[in-house]
Amino acid sequence: MSKNEEKLVVPGDKVGTSEEWLSGEGTFEDNGDIYASQFGLLKFDEDSLEAKVKAVNPIVKVEKGDVIYGSVFMRKGSMAVIMIEKVENVSREVKEDVEGTLHISEVSDDYTEKMKDEFLVGDIVRAKVIQVEPTIKLSTTGKTFGVVRGYCPECRKSMKFERKKNKLYCENCEIRSDRNISSVYGNIKLKR
Ligand SMILES: [Zn+2]
Repeated sequence: MSKNEEKLVVPGDKVGTSEEWLSGEGTFEDNGDIYASQFGLLKFDEDSLEAKVKAVNPIVKVEKGDVIYGSVFMRKGSMAVIMIEKVENVSREVKEDVEGTLHISEVSDDYTEKMKDEFLVGDIVRAKVIQVEPTIKLSTTGKTFGVVRGYCPECRKSMKFERKKNKLYCENCEIRSDRNISSVYGNIKLKR
């Protein structure tokens, strides 16, 4: 990747190594690698030698039928609150702090017993907008919806999808974890 090219990244994306760059705003360093800690545009500052991730600028709103990416902010009983970060394949960016709620009945085509087996706080979810007024409601029914990036409950690193077991696996801690996994896990389409 050319240094001047701007690229949208999501938390957990590796953006460089500490041999090349310092860890700047919106990034963190772990074991010699630098990772994004937030959604945003990756920039390399030639003067300070920092790799930075600048939060995407707020504009416009979410519409019914949109496919969104967001991070799980909170789980409460039969609800999960998702902070909407980006609308898929549209240049519309999302206002800061736009949240949608996901009710347990909209999690899966099958019966869902416990929200805590489906999502962890911080996970990145691909969801459909099914209502915008008076509040934004989301759904993850359908194979391609659900968690597209899951983080380890122990070390917080992003986890690999083990298709055979239908679980997420942390190579660091060697633990497995259940999640409402999207069939497009790991593949996040954030066109500007
Ligand atoms: Zn781990």
